[in-house]
Amino acid sequence: MNYEEKRKQLVESLKERGILTQEKVINAMLKVPREQFLPENVQDSAYVDTPLLIGSEQTISAPHMNAMMCEILNLKKGDKVLEVGTGSGYHASLCAEIVAANNSKTSGHIYTIERHEDLAEKARENMRRTGYDKYITVIVGDGTLGYPQEAPYDKILVTAASPMPIPPPLKQQLKEGGILCIPAGSRRYTQNLYKITRKGDQFKKDKITGVRFVSLIGKYGFDDS
Ligand code: SAH
Repeated sequence: MNYEEKRKQLVESLKERGILTQEKVINAMLKVPREQFLPENVQDSAYVDTPLLIGSEQTISAPHMNAMMCEILNLKKGDKVLEVGTGSGYHASLCAEIVAANNSKTSGHIYTIERHEDLAEKARENMRRTGYDKYITVIVGDGTLGYPQEAPYDKILVTAASPMPIPPPLKQQLKEGGILCIPAGSRRYTQNLYKITRKGDQFKKDKITGVRFVSLIGKYGFDDS
């Protein structure tokens, strides 16, 4: 079976499991070639629903987690999105496919921050190869500070596990009505995935499900140890 057929099968199974429901997320999952964001030795597993190692001891999330987080954010054409934790660049490209691709007039943009320079460079290469680099800016730095230069954001996606409390700059850089999707909790064990919606100076917090992510490391994250 070729990659495209495997991709279709994975999307079908995520639909059957009730994880994929939004048409725009389904279309993006069908379009973005996950194998192109993976190191060669794991490309064969691109469409197995599992996290995979991408270098620097970091992992790309399982596809069901990418799908779930995109749905929680309710991404729309034209959204300005901040992602913390670029990793392979796959999730940023999925977001770009929904908010920006093929629609220059109302094109949104993704700003994504990665603390490992080598991963950021690889992600840029992956995005260039797949054409998503037009809609994505990769920044090397500490994403727990957000990226005030382009704030405020319609949506913020964090793909590494944060301690509690959630980094205040991320909440501050959210637009009115904006949504922040973030895993938070203990460092070594499981965390919960939260959907945080800004209403004026209030933040409504919904706990979605138990999850397990690599650690968010930085000023408002965990220590580098
Ligand atoms: N979204 C990625 C997977 C990310 S894994 C993908 O689609 O492949 C989590 C990433 O967060 C790792 O690459 C890790 O280096 C990065 N990270 C951890 N703490 C960070 C911080 N404070 N700022 C930016 N990146 C961080």
